Amino acid sequence: MSVYGIDLGTTYSCLAKFEDGVATVIQNAAEQSSSLPSAVYFESESSIVVGGEAKNMVQTDAANVVQFVKREIGKPFPPHEFFGQAFSAIDISAMILKKIKAYAEDQGEVIKDVVITCPAYFGFEERNATKKAGELAGFNVLALINEPTAASISYAFRSGNGQFPEETVFVYDLGGGTFDVTVLHISTREVNGNQVPHFEVLATDGDDTLGGKDWDKVLENLLIEKVCAEAGLSEDDLDEDDRAAILSKVEPTKKALSVKEAHPFRAPIQGSTVKFEVTREEFEAATAGLVQQTIDCVNRVLQKENVAGKKIDKILLVGGSSNMPMIPNAVKAAFPDTPVQLEQPDLAVAQGAACYAYLLTSGLGDSDEGIPLPNQDGEQQSEGDENKQPNIGGLSDFVDDLCPRSFGIGGQRKDGSWVCINLVKKDWVIGEQTHIKKTFRVGKDGAEFLNVPVYQNISVEDMCQPSTDIYGEPLESNPADQMSELGRIQIPLPDGMRTRGYPLDVDFQVDTAGVHMHVYDNATGQELQGADIVYNNSDFNEEESKQRLEAFEIVE
Ligand code: ADP
Ligand code: MG
Repeated sequence: MSVYGIDLGTTYSCLAKFEDGVATVIQNAAEQSSSLPSAVYFESESSIVVGGEAKNMVQTDAANVVQFVKREIGKPFPPHEFFGQAFSAIDISAMILKKIKAYAEDQGEVIKDVVITCPAYFGFEERNATKKAGELAGFNVLALINEPTAASISYAFRSGNGQFPEETVFVYDLGGGTFDVTVLHISTREVNGNQVPHFEVLATDGDDTLGGKDWDKVLENLLIEKVCAEAGLSEDDLDEDDRAAILSKVEPTKKALSVKEAHPFRAPIQGSTVKFEVTREEFEAATAGLVQQTIDCVNRVLQKENVAGKKIDKILLVGGSSNMPMIPNAVKAAFPDTPVQLEQPDLAVAQGAACYAYLLTSGLGDSDEGIPLPNQDGEQQSEGDENKQPNIGGLSDFVDDLCPRSFGIGGQRKDGSWVCINLVKKDWVIGEQTHIKKTFRVGKDGAEFLNVPVYQNISVEDMCQPSTDIYGEPLESNPADQMSELGRIQIPLPDGMRTRGYPLDVDFQVDTAGVHMHVYDNATGQELQGADIVYNNSDFNEEESKQRLEAFEIVE
């Protein structure tokens, strides 16, 4: 059976399949495109439209269209309401994935095992929510992989005739709504006599508010300005229809200017036809500041500890917005000594995900280490069963990734105030570095329970202000820390340990599946009955989501 990779994008999604040593994109035949706009239109109580048609409906029935739902997934956003029903970002993402599955199956593909991509900056809630969307759509989600890592895997598979390059690459990914950069070292390892590629993430950064939409906004303003100049109007003269007419020209004009120097504009404004030409030069002049923002970000990453002083062998440009000639031009001008390669900007992420799905199912990996992801009943997958699943929750044999967040536990200071003690920090390499053992002491005499909140944040300080106290009551944390409580463990304390100062050993591990915590009696080494904290997508109900999805037919 073939394996597949899905780039579930903010604006466009793409499916690729790995077969006979190469990853190829499965066409969205109905739209004659290699991708699917990530848009859902609620047409009636029982039917939805997904893709290009849904995106177009924004112009006539915007209230019933959902776009950019990836920005909401796994985050505390209110649900979307249509026809009296509430839909979560997970539901909507699952609808997009279902559509992809449907168009592939129409072409005879049989899809079960998939790898889905996500931004490097996604925390575990967002990752877990993405995985749930995949499962709701009927996939067996082998793993999630970071988009820039996927792009570099695709590059490694495509370059060098079966040999993987030994290179440090810089992935520049400018999409529709986000800008992501990652530096990776690609190498080859021998595992059981096989040469397998290895991807070590050295640094990652980005701006999750910068993307093609910002170029659209600037172009929209430029078009409005030109319309007004041409028609002798002021901006206030333009009505809703005029603005809608201009808006509908924005993205097509932008794309046209990627292949030609000038593009005609023609639209009915205030009852008469307005015509003029927009040039690439004008567009580039108006968006130069945006391009510079991306270059500044690249420079910032190049200064990072793990990267500074390292030779970058290649800059790979991916993401749909890298198709604009101003992007390769600016990057080449800023880094004249480094080869810059436009790496299949619209396809590389999906293709890399398909390559990764292949690696995971190839049996080429070397370890059964790591903690398998619990299955839906919360049981650990047993090892060595016949349909042996790849080690999806544990450490990857192929990718060394960086921890997307800091993780800490709640404790009390001597003065009685609550604090989050960061045990694992953002940007540490997931693996040995994110497996911490530390001794803590019981806080008060007579405590029957050990009640430990586990926090996620982006502070790199050893201690910071938590968002809840030990009883779960909200506290004021620093907004810059993006502090949230992931969950908490409650462990009954056996009799002999209910004294203030009694030492307990905490084993705290962050891997690609989540956070795992175990507590041991320091005196005997015996484990206290405890629980894994993974994440708390607490309001997700799989059955209800399934029912909501089944109530809708995806119409062509
Ligand atoms: P995402 O990962 O955010 O879904 P993509 O990587 O698919 O996004 O990029 C989508 C963005 O790329 C959109 O803003 C789209 O307008 C832009 N884009 C796609 N193709 C072109 C092109 N040929 N010229 C200019 N912009 C493009
Ligand atoms: Mg993308």
